[in-house]
Amino acid sequence: MTASEPPYQLIDAHCHFDAEVFDNDRAQVLESAISNGISDIIIPGTERCYWDRIKCLCSQDHRLHACYGLHPYWANRHQLEDIDALKTYIEINRPVAIGECGLDFRKHLLPETDSKARQLTFFEAQLGLAEEHHLPVVIHSVRATEAVIQTLQKFKGLRGMIHSYSGSLEQARQLIDLGFYISLGGSVTYENASKLRKVVQDIPLSSMLLETDAPDQPDKQHSGQRNEPSFIRNTLEEIARLREESIEDIAKQTSANARTLFAI
Ligand SMILES: [Zn+2]
Repeated sequence: MTASEPPYQLIDAHCHFDAEVFDNDRAQVLESAISNGISDIIIPGTERCYWDRIKCLCSQDHRLHACYGLHPYWANRHQLEDIDALKTYIEINRPVAIGECGLDFRKHLLPETDSKARQLTFFEAQLGLAEEHHLPVVIHSVRATEAVIQTLQKFKGLRGMIHSYSGSLEQARQLIDLGFYISLGGSVTYENASKLRKVVQDIPLSSMLLETDAPDQPDKQHSGQRNEPSFIRNTLEEIARLREESIEDIAKQTSANARTLFAI
């Protein structure tokens, strides 16, 4: 270890590292992540057409880990046959998790009256696959935490993470009781995120993961820029400050949590 490297290791539990926006400098971005202490990056799937891209990327570097799934944001683009394709794909290419899947009830994503039902169909199908294949799930939940909790109550025994958590403290406790980790990203660095910062202070470290959601959701210092895995340090430092705990302890425990969840 050189003098410039941090004295801890971190796992970015959610990063869209396959995104085209990294095509021109992906190797440098990974190099920068490594020199900032990141040992592993979990890459979630979004649409069937991108699974091969993730598979190819992860086959090139042991620090990159694949998830395959159907993201609720694109529920109107997924076909029902994609669920059967996902089943076959995960049987051949065992991922570290199914996802990202979930519910996104922002108004612009609900153009038809059956949009919520359509999202729920894909979500439940993926939870069923996770159950059947004994895999954890990566869950996207926006303006839908209550519905996500109700759905997960039908799949007792599943494990997983709620990525970029945005619900209340009470809901976080319910999700932890259901076997889920609460994953935190750059949003915690914004002072106006008071509900989220309360969650950060009050949930046990044993239920916490760190993520960037890069290239999206940059921290305050990088607001308006492309997010990258190395920026996770700002989130780590803010969480340490909010919880009055050491950076090393948070890095160590959240990395151990990610290793347990994804079996890496
Ligand atoms: Zn994502």
